[in-house]
Amino acid sequence: MRFDVITIFPEYFESPLKVGALKKAQDKGLIEINLINLRDFALDKHKMVDDRPFGGGEGMVFKPEPLYRAISNLKKEGKPYVIYLSPQGRLLNQEVVKELFSKGHLVLICGRYEGIDERIRRYFIDDEISIGDYVVFGGEVAALVVIEAVSRLVPGVVGKKDSVEKETFSQGLLKYPQYTRPRDFLGYKVPEVLLSGDHAAIEKWRREKSLEITFKRRPDLLKKAPLTPEDKAFLKKLGWQEEDA
Ligand code: SAM
Repeated sequence: MRFDVITIFPEYFESPLKVGALKKAQDKGLIEINLINLRDFALDKHKMVDDRPFGGGEGMVFKPEPLYRAISNLKKEGKPYVIYLSPQGRLLNQEVVKELFSKGHLVLICGRYEGIDERIRRYFIDDEISIGDYVVFGGEVAALVVIEAVSRLVPGVVGKKDSVEKETFSQGLLKYPQYTRPRDFLGYKVPEVLLSGDHAAIEKWRREKSLEITFKRRPDLLKKAPLTPEDKAFLKKLGWQEEDA
């Protein structure tokens, strides 16, 4: 999986890309991340990449030429899927993450200030992705979110296959609660069933906890989650109505 990030702050990525699973994934050659400084594609000697908006108003806007040149340069090397990180984009979720993973090669454009010239958005990108209904300073943090979420799907990046397949959202539900040692923490005890060694009982408990937390926190997810008749019977006891699904 390859990611090319176009940014005016390549240094922003220094530590996040050099620690933990992302570092290991790069070292093993499972993912490739290239940081492209937008200023290298500026046309003037001052390396200007932004300008005032036509029509007046606050802030600065990224000029089209440097972005166009940076994108065109990457397109010489293949057929990447070009994404502008933007609060106006479609919301990132695990389904979108899977879709992006299937592209194999992503270009991630990080805006700053007031964003980028509309002509780049309209004619030279394939997609706009938002990390949520709020506004952050720049697209860098959003690019990191995309890189982390997509990289987790690359085989070999996450240690045990299980931990991706069973985690929150993968099966359309939130994940069940986890406990570790000690068994008794300040009088708060680990549920007995988890200490029982009875694998069937543990699986049942986990499935029910997963259904319960999803029903309480994200009932919207139940509309799409694949539910067995047993799941539905359990949810109905909690007050879920199948008509809502
Ligand atoms: N003026 C823009 C607007 O109102 O839509 C917001 C610009 S924001 C301050 C600067 C940059 O941060 C954007 O160009 C975008 O790249 C990034 N950004 C901000 N919020 C984001 C979000 N929720 N998801 C993805 N990128 C975001």
